Amino acid sequence: MQKLFVATGNRHKTDEIRAMLGAGWVIDDLSTHPHLPQPEETGATFAENAAIKALAASRALPGMLVLSDDSGLEVDVLGGAPGVKSARYAGEGASDADNRKKLKGELDRLSRQGVAQPFTGRFRCCMCLAKNDASLGVFDGSVEGRLLLSEEGAGGFGYDPLFVPDGFKNSFGVLPAETKNSLSHRARALAKVAAWLASTMPAN
Ligand code: IMP
Repeated sequence: MQKLFVATGNRHKTDEIRAMLGAGWVIDDLSTHPHLPQPEETGATFAENAAIKALAASRALPGMLVLSDDSGLEVDVLGGAPGVKSARYAGEGASDADNRKKLKGELDRLSRQGVAQPFTGRFRCCMCLAKNDASLGVFDGSVEGRLLLSEEGAGGFGYDPLFVPDGFKNSFGVLPAETKNSLSHRARALAKVAAWLASTMPAN
């Protein structure tokens, strides 16, 4: 078995990563290492923030293979916002519900101004693998779709109830987790991570 530390405190992300990498991997995250430093996400891009998180955790866990994920939602009509600020769109400490409320408010305002719909956008994810304070690679993935003006379903997390992926009629808040895991931004980035790991350090 190979060990991987995922530098996130978001158990939804860890669950998705665990499900996608499969049984050959023992996966831990910040929930079992709450003392680890959590660096400020000061990067201007998802890739920069993913590297900041992976390198910080790899410094604190010498010899451990670390994977970080930085992700968020880009809405075209908002110039790519909330982007790297997705987790704090409604302000520091905002909940997922606060952030969705802010997004609905912005889209509703644009809709009342007559801005043409659909409001297109994408979830984007960058992952960074690191060990001993060195980046081994950055891997990205995205899923295109459109934004709803009102929430649909209560599944998933974050902006899921407002996002309908291309090719589907329902939001990620309604679609089964297996469907989301097969086409999400994280799934696509992780497929690249998994291919890299399989060729470089195959699990037994
Ligand atoms: P991070 O933890 O800094 O990567 O911030 C990610 C933020 O982007 C989350 O708090 C969510 O608001 C949003 N986000 C990222 N991935 C997803 C997803 O799969 N579904 C819904 N929202 C997501």
